[in-house]
Amino acid sequence: MLKDGFGRVVDYLRISVTQRCNFRCLYCMPEKPFSWTPKENLLSYEDMFKFVKVAIDEGINKIRITGGEPLLRVDLDKFIKMISDYKPDIDLCLTTNGYLLKQTAKQLKDAGLHRINISLDSLNKQTTQKISQKDVFDDVMAGLQIAKEVGLGIKINTVPLKGINDHEILDILEYCKNQNFTVRFIEYMENSFASQDIKGCKSKDILKTISSKYEFEKQPRNNTSPAVYYKMTDGYEFGIIEPYEDDFCESCNRIRLTAEGFLIPCLYFEDALSIKEAVQNGDMKEACDVLKKVLLNKPEKNKWSKKTDENETSSRAFYETGG
Ligand code: SAM
Ligand code: SF4
Repeated sequence: MLKDGFGRVVDYLRISVTQRCNFRCLYCMPEKPFSWTPKENLLSYEDMFKFVKVAIDEGINKIRITGGEPLLRVDLDKFIKMISDYKPDIDLCLTTNGYLLKQTAKQLKDAGLHRINISLDSLNKQTTQKISQKDVFDDVMAGLQIAKEVGLGIKINTVPLKGINDHEILDILEYCKNQNFTVRFIEYMENSFASQDIKGCKSKDILKTISSKYEFEKQPRNNTSPAVYYKMTDGYEFGIIEPYEDDFCESCNRIRLTAEGFLIPCLYFEDALSIKEAVQNGDMKEACDVLKKVLLNKPEKNKWSKKTDENETSSRAFYETGG
């Protein structure tokens, strides 16, 4: 079992397979970075898999593939199959913007993927284009339906932004309820790569909007979920991810691997160590030592939760760490 320096069990690995993305979401990457990491600097799937095996053997039992946009990296289904064949009962999921799901959902499911989180910030074509800065709505919606049809479990992630899509909170909630998808509203996390003109909604704003039409009750925090869930009178539950709240980090069970091989102990924490050399040399004892060092270095709280400075801004790019 893996534990960090504060005794928290860490059993969840998030792997970013690429930092590249076909969208330019205002809150993440409004402009293409000056230069992408060259492809030759990325860990190959074979090297990533060597590390995955060590991590699973040490106690990781949930893996999420993310990015950038993970479906842009070729042969993702083969990487998923490697993991799934190694540990068929692992909780294996993916976070995607959904644009390429139409052509990949079935392959991914056949390879052993269980569940996907799809980012859906609007049900309106123009608003979607305003946020992602690309005409993507029809493809995302088509991908979503195909993912549902092939039997992938689906959660929706929505980042409500003031004056842009916050008027759609109820519509998105109702759409997800009708489709039987769980929706999680994510508070916008300040970062230096986002458009500086946007303002995110806080959980109190989101709850106020929902309470204008529905009654709901806060559920006890589930230790393995970053979201706080609220149950509506008909039993449907929606979630809110509030990284600025004091208790957000208490149950953190996550560690992140970037496409270049850096292990990051916290979404908002500067220190990271590389496993690249170790895995490329086949020195898996060293890779395991790096993993344990990073865990010891995992901070008790992210910096956003410091109440003294609500506008603390992360200098780590979400498209690199995978959100
Ligand atoms: N491209 C994929 C996608 O958009 O789902 C996966 C990577 S993306 C970085 C993962 C998640 O992070 C998405 O749900 C996205 O909405 C969220 N995200 C990105 N930037 C964010 C920010 N500044 N604040 C809150 N959530 C953010
Ligand atoms: Fe791309 Fe996802 Fe970032 Fe949007 S949130 S720019 S889809 S990585």
